[in-house]
Amino acid sequence: MHSYPDAKAVVRALSPDEAVILNRPHAAARAARFFAEKFPGTAMYAVKANPSPDLIRILWDAGITHYDVASIAEVRMVREVLPEAKLCFMHPVKTSSAIREAYFTHGVRTFSLDTLEELAKIVDATTNEAGEAASDLQLLVRLRVSSEHSELSLAAKFGVDLADAAPLLQETRQHCDALGICFHVGSQAMTPFAYVQALERVRAAIAEAAVTVDIVDVGGGFPSVYPDLDPPAMEDYFAQIHRHFEALPISYSAELWGEPGRALCAEYSSLIVKVEKRRGNELYINDGAYGALFDAAHVDWRFPVVALEDDLLQPVAEFSFYGPTCDDADYMKGPFLLPEDIQAGDFIEIGMLGAYGAAMQTRFNGFGATQGYVVENEPMFSLYRGDRPTPASDNVVSLR
Ligand SMILES: *Cc1c(COP(=O)(O)O)cnc(C)c1O
Repeated sequence: MHSYPDAKAVVRALSPDEAVILNRPHAAARAARFFAEKFPGTAMYAVKANPSPDLIRILWDAGITHYDVASIAEVRMVREVLPEAKLCFMHPVKTSSAIREAYFTHGVRTFSLDTLEELAKIVDATTNEAGEAASDLQLLVRLRVSSEHSELSLAAKFGVDLADAAPLLQETRQHCDALGICFHVGSQAMTPFAYVQALERVRAAIAEAAVTVDIVDVGGGFPSVYPDLDPPAMEDYFAQIHRHFEALPISYSAELWGEPGRALCAEYSSLIVKVEKRRGNELYINDGAYGALFDAAHVDWRFPVVALEDDLLQPVAEFSFYGPTCDDADYMKGPFLLPEDIQAGDFIEIGMLGAYGAAMQTRFNGFGATQGYVVENEPMFSLYRGDRPTPASDNVVSLR
């Protein structure tokens, strides 16, 4: 793949009429090495955050050996890219055929569940033709925990309530080689206390069920950096998780797992968009709610932005964006801070889009077939280099 020094070089060379994704392999590799070296257990990549095969190879080469997959399509894709990787099927509601294919064809042994029905489905789908039940399953019971410290809740849909966890843990114990408890504190958890609180609930579940637990999986939720969302250092998260994991009533050989999605790939990508029209402080750009900017539209996520023209005035103004489709909902409130004289024909780089950015693209209205290029400069922010939003930064990213 052709590589460029930075976004301005891409604009100079291509003046792209369609939105362009810029990938930074060095940034993804840095995040992966950080987790591989410093997370006090096994870090598995949550593939849904960005299922790019290129990215998955980069993470593998940088030391990430376990992958959290949520569908049979993700199982097949990761298995094809990484024949040696350990795949964990961590979606608590799966189809029987997906479980069967994952187990018998792709070597998947690890599954999550939050009901007795799902347990029965897993046991049935992994029983062989001779009627022998699998003896090598790792089963993780998903516990419902609070999402109150996170930007995106994952508390409503999955997870057994603490009050109902004991019988499920006891029954699951009967059917597995290794028993785990997993949870998800919600995406972009802004304080390590989210994990401390969830691990307290794990402690209560273990005490109530009186079962031997072999794996504690703290899920995803590890943050990245955005203009309004500047979390504590990742080391603080790891230290708190380690301390509270060690204090659980589990055996010395019990394993700690985590499932970072966002934190491993947010810094990987940015996007170049072109301003097609300006109406007051609304900019009509060529990507949006149905493209890589789903979260900007649907949950008002403020991604950092930089104007790519050299001759613009520096005083900034607050802008909102309209995407390219014909739908009013294709609107991103922002505010995005850009030079006040920006106009049609100008290019903008939108940063920190490696997680839940490219992964969300649709082809609605015929848009969304973005080209990807490699660039060599640093992402707008980095949790791993310590580049944080600051008003003094000459990137016009956070003046609020
Ligand atoms: C989405 C998801 C993750 C990744 O979450 P992030 O907030 O991106 O870290 C991990 N585990 C499960 C089960 C998920 O659904």
